[in-house]
Amino acid sequence: MHEMALAESILGLVEETAAAQGVSGVGRVRAVFLDVGELSSVEPEALLFCFDAVTRGSVADGARLEIQRIPGQGWCLNCSRTVPLAALYDPCPECGRHQVQPTAGQEMRVREFELA
Ligand SMILES: [Zn+2]
Repeated sequence: MHEMALAESILGLVEETAAAQGVSGVGRVRAVFLDVGELSSVEPEALLFCFDAVTRGSVADGARLEIQRIPGQGWCLNCSRTVPLAALYDPCPECGRHQVQPTAGQEMRVREFELA
């Protein structure tokens, strides 16, 4: 499952950052704030489920995963401006052409986390 690998990489990031801050011990992280672009192929519900499973016994055991969706945006080559993008490969909402390069909404990153 795709989300399982994502959950593991999120945990990896959290563990790395926690270790750099001298934080260790099971369940020390209370919440993880994650930015997920609307154009990424991430299923938030599946990710929540997987996160719960992979964090067991880790520094983030029992941590709450807060997912913030980042709206999609693209640069239309035809209009020469940034336009909202609801899905990858959608036409430009202004001119209707398929010349939009996605500029935001495909990312997934750990914004911050909260310690218990
Ligand atoms: Zn356009």
